[in-house]
Amino acid sequence: MLQGLTIALSKGRILKESLPLLARAGIVPVDDPDTSRKLVLDTRREDVKLVIIRAQDVPTYVEYGAADVGVAGKDVLMEYDSDGLYEPLDLGIARCRMMVAGRRTEGRLRRRLRVATKYVKTSRAFYAEQGLQVEIIKLYGSMELAPLVGLADRIVDLVDTGNTLKANGLHPLQHIADISSRLIVNKASMKMKHHVVKDFVAQMARAVEVTGRAQSQTRSRGAEAGD
Ligand code: AMP
Repeated sequence: MLQGLTIALSKGRILKESLPLLARAGIVPVDDPDTSRKLVLDTRREDVKLVIIRAQDVPTYVEYGAADVGVAGKDVLMEYDSDGLYEPLDLGIARCRMMVAGRRTEGRLRRRLRVATKYVKTSRAFYAEQGLQVEIIKLYGSMELAPLVGLADRIVDLVDTGNTLKANGLHPLQHIADISSRLIVNKASMKMKHHVVKDFVAQMARAVEVTGRAQSQTRSRGAEAGD
């Protein structure tokens, strides 16, 4: 009997950058994920399905076996903080940095520093490591607004180009972690569907390698052309 594989993905940058890697493994959704309202997508491989869920839910689906494998940002995995998953491969996609940001100059504070973020656990651990007691304020989005309206002194957020910080008069102040998306695997699936999962991880590793090689060739051609 054909053992099926369910892959959990989230919409946005992860989906967009995962699809070319999956295509190299012959996994191409039948319906266009950008326009389809289906949450479970069939692929051209009869044995493989995609489930499209919120980024923060991907580790939960995979840990509980609702999906065998998934693609999750390291930021989400740090915050999820569980050893109930395998994380066999860095896909090298959706790269960015997790940073502390704020105004460059701020007056002396007579109270604890207030830090707004959706990464509560990660931020708490970061400041604890520095021996600093701060007040963490949980937000669900638009962190950059918090220092502008006096809700917080600092934010912890993802930074890619830095344009969002700049547009709001904020500066990156401290680097917390380099972020990229990881392939995660359910522990039971790794045992029970060993061949299917192992083949999939190997195919994805090859896809990452080929893509990386193609990118560095394009870069060096660009550099030569610029000479
Ligand atoms: P940027 O202006 O390019 O620095 O992008 C910053 C905005 O994009 C912030 O709102 C971030 O939360 C978000 N962002 C940047 N990189 C990522 C990523 N890899 N995954 C999800 N969100 C991101």
